Amino acid sequence: METKLKELRQKLEKQCQVNQELQNHNQDLEKRLKEKERLLEELQSRLDELEGHSPRESNDGVQEVRQSRTAVMALEPIPEDLDIQTTKVKKTAGERAQIIKAMGKNDFLSRLDEEQISMMVELLTSLDRCPGDKIIKEGTEGDSMYIVAAGELKVTQSGRDLRTLTSGDVFGELAILYNCKRTASVEAVTAVRLWCIDRQTYRSIMTSKSKKKREQLMGFLKTARTLKALNEEQLSNIIDSMEEVKFQDTEVIVREGAEGDTFYIILKGEVLVTKKVNGQQKVIRKMGQGEHFGELALIRAILRTATCTAVGEVTCFSIDKEVFEETIPIESLELHDDSDLENTVTSEKERFESSLKLKDLIPILYQEGRYQGEPVTLGLGGFGRVELVTTLHHGKYFAMKKVSKKLIVEKRQGPHVIFEKRILQDIESDFIVRLHAAFKDTRYIYMVMEFCSGGEIWTKLKEVGRFDENIAVFVSACVVEAYAYLHKKNIMYRDLKPENLMLDSKGYVKLVDFGFAKELKRGQKTYSFCGTPEYMAPEIIQNHGHDFAADFWSLGVLVFELLVGSPPFSSSEPQKIYAKILDGVMKFPPYMGEGARSLINKLCRPRPGQRLGNTKNGIKDVRHHRWFNSINWHKLRMGQIDAPTIRLIRKGPCYINFDRFPFDKTQAEEEFSGWDRDF
Ligand code: ATP
Ligand code: MG
Repeated sequence: METKLKELRQKLEKQCQVNQELQNHNQDLEKRLKEKERLLEELQSRLDELEGHSPRESNDGVQEVRQSRTAVMALEPIPEDLDIQTTKVKKTAGERAQIIKAMGKNDFLSRLDEEQISMMVELLTSLDRCPGDKIIKEGTEGDSMYIVAAGELKVTQSGRDLRTLTSGDVFGELAILYNCKRTASVEAVTAVRLWCIDRQTYRSIMTSKSKKKREQLMGFLKTARTLKALNEEQLSNIIDSMEEVKFQDTEVIVREGAEGDTFYIILKGEVLVTKKVNGQQKVIRKMGQGEHFGELALIRAILRTATCTAVGEVTCFSIDKEVFEETIPIESLELHDDSDLENTVTSEKERFESSLKLKDLIPILYQEGRYQGEPVTLGLGGFGRVELVTTLHHGKYFAMKKVSKKLIVEKRQGPHVIFEKRILQDIESDFIVRLHAAFKDTRYIYMVMEFCSGGEIWTKLKEVGRFDENIAVFVSACVVEAYAYLHKKNIMYRDLKPENLMLDSKGYVKLVDFGFAKELKRGQKTYSFCGTPEYMAPEIIQNHGHDFAADFWSLGVLVFELLVGSPPFSSSEPQKIYAKILDGVMKFPPYMGEGARSLINKLCRPRPGQRLGNTKNGIKDVRHHRWFNSINWHKLRMGQIDAPTIRLIRKGPCYINFDRFPFDKTQAEEEFSGWDRDF
């Protein structure tokens, strides 16, 4: 017995010794790791200096100059039946030519389609101004765009002369898309004549044109026998997949005997149908607008039974068999694979915490640094600030978004704020930030959210430059899950960007900021202009009407930005960004893998109906793409994957993963109009 005890004691001592050694080794490793981190930071700051960047936020509380991108919008109601005829202004051929030439020289306007351009030409009104007249004032909100017809103007910024404008120059064009602050002033030097159009007119026209075109196409499609069994939603999806093609006079569109794989609808012009009879080309008939040909090619392999030739210029809308098969039958509302999961999750989740009271929430204060003793601000948004708070009862942290009611009214954001609250309140997804409570007083509305302590993906991305592929895959996969949840509830998100992705303490990614989210029935379109320029889908920029497919476009942009460090379409001038998006040319850096390129190309297809995620298998196709091969989707949803993002998260005070902001002591004005009754 004694010897056994002795033996055991010896063993124990030995084990202790081993433990001690291991601990020492660990400490050593930790020290080395810290040293490496310090070195990395130093290298990064040196790199910044070399690149001429402003110094980034260090832990002593120096505020970084944020360069995150603000979202823009134009959601003003569009009068449905604006009388286009009465607003048209007659112009001479010379004037038309001048306007078209001016538009052709402009980055953004030159990308509008032919119809949109000719519509603009019709709608421009003329304006005469005297020398010294101010046309645009720096800092004010603009609502019109101008083309110089005659005379000279000068552009100034904070009193400095920038350039001179003369006949054929365009200015202020951003204002026709959305409400934006003028960045410079424009003043007439001589007597000037201007062509001018305002946003409301532009947007009304573009929107009503797009709507009419869809209705017209719908009517055309309904006459195709082969498509009879399809419902409106399916037909609408087909329209989204179709492309415009143009043919010159005498050009053969389909040739008898050739293999057919495309279906055409004639939008403009005439098409001659001929057939070989006894070696002679015999005219069968002439087809015009709204008629279609080649529909059988969509459902089976056939040889063309006639030749169709353009008579004069012809514009058709067409769809290939391959694309058609991707579009129909539509089961884009699949996602049943996660429905049972949702039930189990729901039962475990805390419900909207009615016990939480505004007066019980106390701010967390900075413990050191320049702002020591001041309340912690986690982020500033376009409308308000997000502060870190806690309660005495359970000591949990919350992120509290606080927005001035006066500002909401001024910016006409009331309905959006109410909708944001309503959506977040109903949401039960681990990939979307949870709303625990909402309050209001006479000055502010408050939304108390779960605190995502890991910080913004945007900040992390700026820190490391670009993400390793495994991190980008994981972050994007979390977004796919958030999308799956939202889209199934018929909610579009519409503001995807790294700034709106937060990390929780486990390194899982959550969507925040539902200011632009919108509920939309399947098969319907919405015509508002909103999002962040770099992430906007082409159909939004063109006012063609958009839907869930716009979210998939942004996902492609996100994947690109995560891997590269900057988005595929960027410029310091928004109108240049829009021009690039409409061109759709993406340059992949050599280090980007083939899988990522393929996914991005499929998500960023110009036609919404052809975009991965919006084709017949819906979001399943995105999950099954080979770039996501390493993701076990079930485990991801269960939170059982070790997040690779965890290594991006710093340890320290609870606000360590956030930029620091000075406290704003001023109080917003009181507001009593009552818009917030339903908040
Ligand atoms: P905008 O619409 O201009 O993007 P916003 O006023 O709607 O801004 P949010 O985007 O919701 O505000 O939040 C602003 C910032 O606050 C975020 O970018 C983020 O840094 C921080 N933040 C928001 N929600 C949380 C949260 N739940 N946990 C931690 N930080 C948060
Ligand atoms: Mg935001």
